[in-house]
Amino acid sequence: MDADLLRQYLEFYQDLGIKTLYRQAVPVGQADPEGTPPANVPSAAIPMDLPPLAPTGDTLLKIIEDMGDCHRCRLSEGRNKIVFGVGNPQSPLVFVGEGPGADEDAQGIPFVGRAGQLLTQMIENTAKKEGIELLRKDIYICNVVKCRPPENRTPEPDEMEICGQFLHRQLSAIRPKVICALGGTAARALTGHKEGVTKMRGKWFTWQDIPVMVTYHPSYLLRPYNQDAKREAWEDLKKILHFVYD
Ligand code: URA
Repeated sequence: MDADLLRQYLEFYQDLGIKTLYRQAVPVGQADPEGTPPANVPSAAIPMDLPPLAPTGDTLLKIIEDMGDCHRCRLSEGRNKIVFGVGNPQSPLVFVGEGPGADEDAQGIPFVGRAGQLLTQMIENTAKKEGIELLRKDIYICNVVKCRPPENRTPEPDEMEICGQFLHRQLSAIRPKVICALGGTAARALTGHKEGVTKMRGKWFTWQDIPVMVTYHPSYLLRPYNQDAKREAWEDLKKILHFVYD
């Protein structure tokens, strides 16, 4: 993580007057791919001999520090910047994408390219139409992998597993009310389900007892002839916003 980005994060937290970002993680939940948000399910026992993925007292800053100038997987070889995440670390809503593209890799900020602009419009316009006061800066956005895969290929399973520890800690530290998985890679990483995104979208799953809604990735919505998918993504977003903010 370069010093500039670390300084930006520090300033952001200081502006918010935040001293600690940690909230206790809840153990493993269950997928419930039906149409309603899942009720909390009983916690599964955690084997005592496994170290916790999200250490006690964890914060986004600590995660950034632990990540350091990460070279844990091959994605580090071609990256310019680590793209950790952006937005309000106390947000009740977190969007998770697949991995940075060229613009994100250059700026160190997720979803700033064309797909990112569409995501911003979708969030802000849908909220406005639904009478919810919400800007992109109010929510938190991150990706499954933090370094750009070459040629924007899908991250490999080992890359997702290695980087997944940081996503796990991010989500455990924030503990939002809802997570939105953007596209199949994020959906599979968060829910463990293997179906395609068309089957999973619009349904509720859980990650560690937190409701997860799957929807289309904005890059997919940018392709021509995807009017139906666009309409469906807007419907998914409306469900999420009303669940979180009503
Ligand atoms: N696509 C993603 O999945 N993430 C980004 O940050 C940008 C594009």
